[in-house]
Amino acid sequence: MSPKEVLKFVEENNIKIVDLRFMDFIGLWQHCSYPAHELTEDVFEDGMGFDGSSLRGWQAINNSDMILIPDPASAKVDPFSEIPTLILICNVFDPITKEPYTRDPRYIAKKAQNYLKGTGLADTAFFGPEAEFFIFDDIRYGYSANSGFFYFDSEEGNWNSGADRGPNLGYKIRHKEGYFPCPPHDTLMGIRSEMTLLMEEMDITVEAHHHEVATGGQCEIDIKYAPLLEQGDNLLLYKYIVKNVARKHNKTATFMPKPMYGDNGSGMHVHQSLWKDGKPLFAGDEYGGLSEMALYYTGGIIKHAKALAAFTNPTTNSYKRLVPGFEAPVNLAYSSRNRSASLRIPMYDSSPKAKRIEVRFPDPSCNSYLAFTAMLMAGLDGIENKIDPGDPMDKNLYDLDPIELSNVPQMPASLDEALDELEKDHEFLLKGDVFTEDVISTWIEYKRENEANAVNMRPHPYEFMLYFDF
Ligand code: GLU
Ligand code: MG
Ligand code: MG
Repeated sequence: MSPKEVLKFVEENNIKIVDLRFMDFIGLWQHCSYPAHELTEDVFEDGMGFDGSSLRGWQAINNSDMILIPDPASAKVDPFSEIPTLILICNVFDPITKEPYTRDPRYIAKKAQNYLKGTGLADTAFFGPEAEFFIFDDIRYGYSANSGFFYFDSEEGNWNSGADRGPNLGYKIRHKEGYFPCPPHDTLMGIRSEMTLLMEEMDITVEAHHHEVATGGQCEIDIKYAPLLEQGDNLLLYKYIVKNVARKHNKTATFMPKPMYGDNGSGMHVHQSLWKDGKPLFAGDEYGGLSEMALYYTGGIIKHAKALAAFTNPTTNSYKRLVPGFEAPVNLAYSSRNRSASLRIPMYDSSPKAKRIEVRFPDPSCNSYLAFTAMLMAGLDGIENKIDPGDPMDKNLYDLDPIELSNVPQMPASLDEALDELEKDHEFLLKGDVFTEDVISTWIEYKRENEANAVNMRPHPYEFMLYFDF
């Protein structure tokens, strides 16, 4: 839609509220709402002001004014608002210079798309994320002297008394057995179907949805591949839909990578391929039916993976998922069929169009624009410098003996380590000014101070179990 068409749509559909949305630095979708009459053609030129200093990792307080300029092509009706509301995704600008804000993740993704075109290697990078998430019952309970125990029944949406939450109806999914028995084991099929239909209504094509391996309601909804920027936007709508449908059913959805000890965590495998003039470039006669270009792209991802982790696995919790035994990758190797490798070449479909690599280490706590962009830049660095990915690893990497294993590079073991790696290795991200030194250093500083150090400084519940009695 053009700005004029958006205004016409607002009028014809009796839209009352316009909701401007943008991605903050850390990876949370933010918004501000306006009565529909505030949206004029000028807003698409001059934007709407907001306080950039109140958002984590952005402007200093003495330099706080920023503006949001909506992207008219992003207009979508909000399915959760009873009052007719139009969502518009925005780019962030500096009001003084009128330049795009260099710490706006969406702008960084845009620059990567332009950089890709400028290399002449390809014109489109496709990304297909498989985000996993947990849906938990919203269990709230308490005790009062008069009525004893009481609890909130999330199925019925009301408060009940009694310590017991109803009869045990059986068919409980046990640890690591969630993939993927039919209802009544899978109690979340209907909720995922509802999420799926809403996604499709918002122009995101869904390929499949299913229960995942972990108990406690681990789910996956797979969406069709799309170009980098569009997929960055899609993933925000995806999370918005997942969280809000869960909430509607008195449940809570989380994209936290490892919410449960002893069971699988939530990853976000990201399928990637490059195309030029409508033709796929990753199919060829090399290993796994890949082209030489795809192998070099893989080489770039493997070479820079430890630094990439600072963006693809950007939380302290991310590293509780990246441990052996839970289908999450630890070793930096590639293979055509091995799910214990960090990079897989899916072989389900042999058509050149479907040829892609699947990067398995990312998780859904990432800022999608930054994670996709960083991976693209690593892959391009691989192609530009003909980086050899080494030999594929077709055996179960969890079973390698220690000597063999010592030759296989590993993912970082902590957020601290990933940030150190990013500090050492980020030249590849600076090409074409896609990431700037300022963005890299702000990211490292923010994550170190507010997350890695903040978690390290706090006593952990398990430390009480280990040490309290000493
Ligand atoms: N949940 C697994 C992970 O953490 C992935 C399971 C799968 O889809 O293969 O990556
Ligand atoms: Mg999965
Ligand atoms: Mg997968």
